[in-house]
Amino acid sequence: MDKCKFIESWVGQCKNDVLKSGFCEEHQGITCISCGKQATHSCEETGQLVCGAPLCDDCEHTIAKDGTNGGIGFFRVSPLPKGYKQHCRKDAQVYTSWYTRDEYNQPLNSERKKAGSGSDSTE
Ligand SMILES: [Zn+2]
Ligand SMILES: [Zn+2]
Ligand SMILES: [Zn+2]
Repeated sequence: MDKCKFIESWVGQCKNDVLKSGFCEEHQGITCISCGKQATHSCEETGQLVCGAPLCDDCEHTIAKDGTNGGIGFFRVSPLPKGYKQHCRKDAQVYTSWYTRDEYNQPLNSERKKAGSGSDSTE
């Protein structure tokens, strides 16, 4: 028998037997916290806590201004875009993840240049 399609964050695919819907009794009817469709997985973003919110394939954790998930737990580290909840559609993200940003992938050339120009030139 097929297994439920639901992916639990940090656990993996659900091991329960599947119903006609493609999900088990426990996960059938669990709706995406962002758009209300059938959820397919739980959010695996972590801060002080694992987020764990149910999400469909189209939605994910909203990326905050600093490129992180904004902090999950007792206090918010970085504000989310104005009017955004903690989760949104993937194509509606305002900011990109910090690890996809250029500043992160480039070596600190500008810093080195600055240090080099510090040497005295006597003319
Ligand atoms: Zn399940
Ligand atoms: Zn959704
Ligand atoms: Zn989340």
